[in-house]
Amino acid sequence: MKLLEDRIRKEGIVLPHNVLKVDSFLNHQVDPQLMFEVGKEFAKRFADKPITKILTVESSGIAPAVMTGLAMQVPVIFARKHKSLTLTDDLYTADVYSYTKQTTNKISIAKRFISADDSVLIIDDFLANGQAVQGLLNIVDEANIEVQGIGIVIEKTFQKGRTLITKRNIQLEALAQISSLENGEVQFLN
Ligand code: 5GP
Repeated sequence: MKLLEDRIRKEGIVLPHNVLKVDSFLNHQVDPQLMFEVGKEFAKRFADKPITKILTVESSGIAPAVMTGLAMQVPVIFARKHKSLTLTDDLYTADVYSYTKQTTNKISIAKRFISADDSVLIIDDFLANGQAVQGLLNIVDEANIEVQGIGIVIEKTFQKGRTLITKRNIQLEALAQISSLENGEVQFLN
């Protein structure tokens, strides 16, 4: 998606450990117009799938997920991150190792918001090693729900997230694919 690549080129800052900072339009300040375009693009790419709900993880997945929900006219559920969980009976939970924070978080979704009739699209801001997506897939498996696709705003193709997803034969769409962040420079795939 050219609009997104242009913004990454213009405003993305490469940090150590292969981390791209895009907090001027996605991870802190949010550009609603750009996110709306992102949402419409995901809606187009998954138009043939019978999607009933969108799942994401708080907090940076929420903006693109909500715009996709708006474009597809379906509800959006964001998994919450908890330090301790007391209401385990009513929640699906999974452990997720955070690449940027280098800590493990428990994510959870209330059982009442998803049912076996649902058919979901997973949306997230970044795909690095795939831990966040894997956490959502664990929840979806536990809930016996079908995953119709995974939409990622920015994929770092030099990390192993895609391998994990394609092993499961799930349609994966990334709107910007970054093949390298070496020497502080953003290189896009192709
Ligand atoms: P994964 O679970 O695929 O290893 O990493 C995905 C999560 O880590 C994303 O939800 C995102 O919050 C964070 N993340 C991973 N790599 C980056 C990065 O280069 N930049 C930013 N801003 N977040 C990242």
